[in-house]
Amino acid sequence: LGYLYGPLQELGELVVAVGSAVAAGERIAEVLDHPAEVADAPDARPLGRVRGHLRFEHVHLTYPDALGPALDGVSFALRPSELTVLTGGSGAGKSTVTRLLTRLHDPSAGRILLDGHDLRRVTLASLRRAVTVVAQDSPLVDGTLWENIAWGEPDADPARVAAAARAAGVDGFAARLPDGYDTPLGQSGRRLSGGQRRRVTLARGLLRDSPVLVLDEPTAGLDDTAAEPLLRTLRRLAADRTVLVITHDLRLAARADHLVVLDRGRLARPASESLFGPDGLTITGNVRP
Ligand code: ADP
Ligand code: MG
Repeated sequence: LGYLYGPLQELGELVVAVGSAVAAGERIAEVLDHPAEVADAPDARPLGRVRGHLRFEHVHLTYPDALGPALDGVSFALRPSELTVLTGGSGAGKSTVTRLLTRLHDPSAGRILLDGHDLRRVTLASLRRAVTVVAQDSPLVDGTLWENIAWGEPDADPARVAAAARAAGVDGFAARLPDGYDTPLGQSGRRLSGGQRRRVTLARGLLRDSPVLVLDEPTAGLDDTAAEPLLRTLRRLAADRTVLVITHDLRLAARADHLVVLDRGRLARPASESLFGPDGLTITGNVRP
């Protein structure tokens, strides 16, 4: 069910409407098992063990009814054991990259490869197990804090749920809630602040423990004290998986192995030319001190 995080962005209202966490999960799964635009190819194969090499090759995407392309010939590679920061101005195409990674859309031209397999040739189910996206506005459901973290993985080992909560910095505020992790969060988690909600959806994403982890603005609204454990967690996670973080946060960029800059749908030059790769397309500079 983790693949729902992206689409849930658009279905937030539905979640609020249907009530209980379980019911919401099931009904949304029904809707999203039949996405309008993207479906398994007749010859789609499940991914085997995923190593996490991702390649965007000259990827274009024009949304239906859009005037121009959201991505216009973008190429870069993400590697396992690397923390990549994707940055760029509003409307640059950053969230579009995350939507392509779980095939909420397919490229209009170009292709995306995971361990050498074109995403259009693998089953959606196996792709969405391999790639977890914690979207900017992944909504919460009307359940307890614990249910919200374990949402989509109700059979998860409680120790793993607790570890994900700790890693995402949920522990700090959970202790101050009236019933701790058993506190109902209210519709859309309205008992929590924006930063707290973000940490809950982050914990949910960490719990999935997938080989590719994509986070859209995970530190937005977090002060240094709250951000620091998260930064350490992301570094640790990147030791054995592919981590892509969309951010403007210099605290995060300073810890990245790899920087990708987008500007209006194209790769852009960062301030320092020394960050550039040899072909001038992919920025492969190690920006860690
Ligand atoms: P970013 O996350 O970098 O701010 P996005 O990837 O969300 O940018 O958007 C890139 C461009 O695509 C923007 O011009 C945006 O308006 C447009 N766009 C995004 N989503 C849609 C959509 N569903 N339909 C049409 N245009 C869209
Ligand atoms: Mg965005």
